[in-house]
Amino acid sequence: MIIVMKPNVIEQDIKNVINLVEDHGLKTHLSTGDQITIIGVVGDKSKLSKCNIELMGGVEKIVPVTESYKLANKKFNMNSSIIKVRDVEIGGNKFVIMAGPCAIENEKQIIETAHAIKKSGASILRGGAYKPRTSPYSFQGLEEEGLKYMAKAREETGLPIVCEVTSLKSVETAYKYVDMFQIGARNMQNFYLLKEIGKTNTPVLLKRGLSATIDEWLNAAEYIMSEGNKNVVLCERGIRTFETATRNTLDISAIPIIKHKSHLPIIVDPCHATGKRAYVNPLSKASVAVGADGIMVEVHPNPAVALSDGPQSLPPDEFELLCNELKPFSNLVGKTL
Ligand code: PEP
Ligand code: MN
Repeated sequence: MIIVMKPNVIEQDIKNVINLVEDHGLKTHLSTGDQITIIGVVGDKSKLSKCNIELMGGVEKIVPVTESYKLANKKFNMNSSIIKVRDVEIGGNKFVIMAGPCAIENEKQIIETAHAIKKSGASILRGGAYKPRTSPYSFQGLEEEGLKYMAKAREETGLPIVCEVTSLKSVETAYKYVDMFQIGARNMQNFYLLKEIGKTNTPVLLKRGLSATIDEWLNAAEYIMSEGNKNVVLCERGIRTFETATRNTLDISAIPIIKHKSHLPIIVDPCHATGKRAYVNPLSKASVAVGADGIMVEVHPNPAVALSDGPQSLPPDEFELLCNELKPFSNLVGKTL
């Protein structure tokens, strides 16, 4: 439930309500807007059954929150969250572009890509060191060696880095290198993994599961946030449907729905959504139009020889074109690139 305080409520009234709720063993989350202040309550509400909170000083009303996710819920936080990855803000006025290869293949490949994407306007470098591949015989990633190359690319370009983690052990290793953890579609409901990264302060890019509903996705975010890590960014990357013309189906409606239900930023990955390079550009534009906070694009110096996801990766010149073409679109929606 949320406790809505009266306009012009005094500090002491807010404190009294928070103390009462916490003294009963529940947690509170304070959100202060221009006009109103709300106190979100997480925990067993029945413990408050004997308290007449409605009658307390400064309280306007009590509103139940029926959704099972609370901290990720817009009702708990009226202001859109801005998540900082080093000096890059996601969810603010900038349309953030994350780019890089599907997999880190060698030092030269990642360094070359990092310089190219930075020149074109990307502000975060992506690269997979732990690759959750469909076949066990496909390239599985360079693991820690790859993370070292990513850290070197950051040193050279200043770009923050985001890498996927797939196990508790990989979290332990990647924690020392990365600026943002990525939870891939296949692990969106790996609750042990979610809880583990929830105990860190490292920002998290949480991809939507292959067949996950929006409610399940927001509950996955709640798993991370309920452990203390509130720095979650969502990523729509396409869902499984009957359609075979694309690898997945980009659920473009998920972006306005998330904006309606949650305060968390959301970005779009048009590469995994389609599996085809040709559709990355138009769907990136669509993402800007529906209010996404950014995109994640796979870029490879030579996609024809990429060890994974070559067909959906852009070569640097196409990526540059994409960034240039996105500028007027983002200006139109009041965002800078
Ligand atoms: C990736 O980003 O390389 C990846 C494996 O994505 P997803 O988890 O969305 O399939
Ligand atoms: Mn990939």
